[in-house]
Order: sequence, then C-alpha cells, then structure tokens
Amino acid sequence: MIKRRTTPTVSIGHIKIGYGHPIVIQSMTNTPTADVKATVEQVLELANAGSELVRITINDDAAAQAAIEICKELKDRGCSNPIIGDFHFNGHILLNRYRELAKSLAKYRINPGNIGHGQKHDEHFEMFLKVALEHEKPVRIGVNGGSLDQDLLKDMMDRNARNPRPNTPEKVFCEAVIESALRSAEHAQNLGMPEDRIILSAKLSDLQQLLYVNQELARRSGLTIHLGLTEAGLRTEGTVKSSVALGILLNQGIGDTIRVSLTPDPETPRTREIEICKNILQSLGLRYFSPTITSCPGCGRTDNTLYQQLALDINHYILQNLEEWKKKYPGVESLKIAVMGCVVNGPGESRDADIGISLPGKSEEPQAPVFMDGKQICVLKGPAIKNDFLRLLDDYISKRFQT
Ligand code: SF4
Repeated sequence: MIKRRTTPTVSIGHIKIGYGHPIVIQSMTNTPTADVKATVEQVLELANAGSELVRITINDDAAAQAAIEICKELKDRGCSNPIIGDFHFNGHILLNRYRELAKSLAKYRINPGNIGHGQKHDEHFEMFLKVALEHEKPVRIGVNGGSLDQDLLKDMMDRNARNPRPNTPEKVFCEAVIESALRSAEHAQNLGMPEDRIILSAKLSDLQQLLYVNQELARRSGLTIHLGLTEAGLRTEGTVKSSVALGILLNQGIGDTIRVSLTPDPETPRTREIEICKNILQSLGLRYFSPTITSCPGCGRTDNTLYQQLALDINHYILQNLEEWKKKYPGVESLKIAVMGCVVNGPGESRDADIGISLPGKSEEPQAPVFMDGKQICVLKGPAIKNDFLRLLDDYISKRFQT
C-alpha cells in the first residue's frame, strides 16, 4: 500500500489536487495556440482520452488572445476541463495586458529560470504573482533543468568552488534546481500566495537527477508536487524512462499530478501520453481506469495462439463495453482478469484474479478451468470457450458490481 505524502489541496477549476485526492493526469497541446480551431480540437481529444488538466502554451499576443477564445469555445462545447497557461519569458506582461486571459485560465505556470535577471527577475515574478492573487488562481512554479536560473546556478557553483570539500557539478546543479523551486515558493508565499494555491515541479531529463531532486523537494517542502520527466524521448524509450521515473516517485508517495512527455512522431498520437499515465497509476494500484488483464507471454509449452487471441478478444470486449459498465457497475475498473496459457502458472494466476481462465498447453487435456474469487467454478471445453468465458465474465460483473 502506497503511503502518500500529506500535501495541501489545490483547487484548479473543479479539479482538486493533493493528499486525499486522486493523482491527476495532465497533458499539453502541441498545436500553435494562435490556431484556435486546431488547439480546441486537440484539447478535446486529450480531455476525452482522460487528461483531467490540459496546458497550452501562451507565448505571445496572438496566443494570449487565442487562449481567451479557446477557453470560451471549450466551455460552449461542454468541456469543463481546466485549462492551464504555460508561460515563459513574458507571462508577467501577457497576464497584465490581457485581463480576460488571466480570468479564463484555471492556473498559471511560471518558470523562474526565464523571467529575467537580478532585480528584474523579482519584479517580473511579483507582477506575475500579483495577477494570480488578484484572480485567486493557483500557480505552478515549474523549474526545468534546461532553463534553470543561470544566476542562481553560477552563484551556487562559485560558492561550491570555494568550498574546501566541493560537491560534484551534478550535485550542485540538482541543488540549484531545488533551490530555485523553494526560493520561488517562499517568494510567492511572502507575496501572500497561500500554500494551497502553489504547486511545485522540477523536471529534468536525467532519471537519477529527477529522482533526487523530487525526493528532496518532497522532504524539504510540504507543497503539492507535479511530476514529469522532461524530454523523455521517443516511443519505447520515452515510455520506459517516464514509467520508471514516475513509478519510483509515486511508489514513495511523492507526486499529486503527473505528465508523461513523449517526443511527438507521426505514428504516436498525442493521447499516448495519457494512456501511459493511466497505466502507471493503475500498475501501482493508485487509480483504476479499466479492468486489468493478466496474461502470460506464452512459451514452448503452448502450441497454439488460443490464449493470445482470447486475451486480445477479452481486451476488445472490455473496451467495447467499458463505458456502459462504468455507468451500470461502479467500481468495475478495478476488476482483475487472468488469461493464462498453461497449467504451470495458469491456475495460480487465475486463482489470484477475480475471474481467470487457464487454457490448455501443448501436452494437456484440451480443457480450460475457470476460477472466480479463488475457486474453480467450471471447466470449459470445445470451440465455444471464448463465448462461454465472456458469458461467465458478464455474469460475474453483473453480480459483483451491481448497485
Ligand atoms: S503459463 Fe504456461 S504457457 Fe504461459 S508462459 Fe508460463 S509456462 Fe508458458
């Protein structure tokens, strides 16, 4: 059982984030925000896939004006997902110039690494925070390894060089990331921002650094944390790296919202990021989105693909029926189904699942015992195994999850 860190509840529109609330999935559009139509369509696509928060970049006047329209059109089209403005360099100017924008967005993200130097840095930070305070909006202080505050880093590197026992540059870099987030949070709180309107994030592309920085942020601050590995990479590499990074931190109780950032490619829909987030949360037992199917990889003990086909067919059947089941059978998302290939692990895994079937391997009798709640309830045989099992699955779901 994962023991989550106690963090304040931050309200972003109607979504609540923090301890006691589900870990929230977020994503970000990659359309030019000035293209209202394309951005609205992508927000809808991401929201429909399960992204509870969607972030859009607001980089110039055209994007700022478009963002107002985007929020309005989304509302008109029945999409209530909070929209977050992602600001770099000029957020303090745009939010002050477009008051309607400040009102329309549900949260603002500020990157303390790119809002100017010295006195200007603080002035811009204060201008930004002032708008958030005026409109009672939460902010995310989002530090990024690639755009870390260079003044702070230089200062910390210089101090480290004078240290008789200096730390490695990598360690100082990580400490600068942490320091940037913590100092900014303290600055925001000194300006009057309550802790339940601040979210911290520190994203890096190096997995070990990401772990250290977030573990330290969690240890040194009580604030709510957004997790993400930045520049994770393409497809498999990005998926694995993100899953390992987020999985480790979430398993330690760290993280209240998550995002997986994959490098886009023509064959990977933007919604893949959300699918991965759901899978990470479900694998850890933190949230359930769809029944889990335990299926074995198969080996030389099987001489047919019956179990593979059955696993695919059950998956397809679940996808087809899931929306309806969710309405009729609350909690069905937590169902565990096993579809196993032979007698070696089949009965054990099937017994551990809510409902499971152990198909016959090469040298076994052509029969498939079915288990429910740990007990064998029947043995299926013949060409109708799939349909018979789906019938049993329907019965099980209707009995177990009927309200
Ligand atoms: S359950 Fe049987 S078929 Fe599946 S991987 Fe194990 S030994 Fe092979």
